[in-house]
Amino acid sequence: IERTLVLVKPDGVVRKLSGEILARVEAKGYTLAELKKVTATREQLQAHYAEHEGKPFYEPLVEFMLSGPVVAAIFEGHRVIEGFRALAGTTDPTTAAPGTIRGDFGRDWGLKVQQNLVHGSDSVESAEREIGIWFA
Ligand code: ATP
Repeated sequence: IERTLVLVKPDGVVRKLSGEILARVEAKGYTLAELKKVTATREQLQAHYAEHEGKPFYEPLVEFMLSGPVVAAIFEGHRVIEGFRALAGTTDPTTAAPGTIRGDFGRDWGLKVQQNLVHGSDSVESAEREIGIWFA
């Protein structure tokens, strides 16, 4: 069965949207397999965002992800990776479609990092890699 790693980022936790976000994923029919609230370490974030190292938004992104706890979840289901990304909406919350998590709750707060509420794995390979980072 396919698995994906979902993170409610610090902006989602601070704004008390964790429950609403998880409820939307469950309502779609995916199964919650693991769940925890964690404060990330820099090492975890360096591993998680390795593909973005060197990009201008990388350091602000890591700092933002260290700014407060995140909620980490593993969801399971048929095509859950694609399915969650559809629920999340596009990366930029200002233009993410209404009806999506980012479209309904996110906007650009004028900071360096787009605080876009959630992360979801983008492939089976990254899901397994990321699950290893957050649920070692
Ligand atoms: P995620 O992987 O978080 O689900 P994504 O796949 O839509 O989002 P990526 O391109 O993998 O986005 O970028 C990872 C994260 O880095 C984004 O979710 C966002 O927080 C941040 N990010 C990406 N591009 C930019 C940018 N141009 N400026 C600021 N932050 C960015």
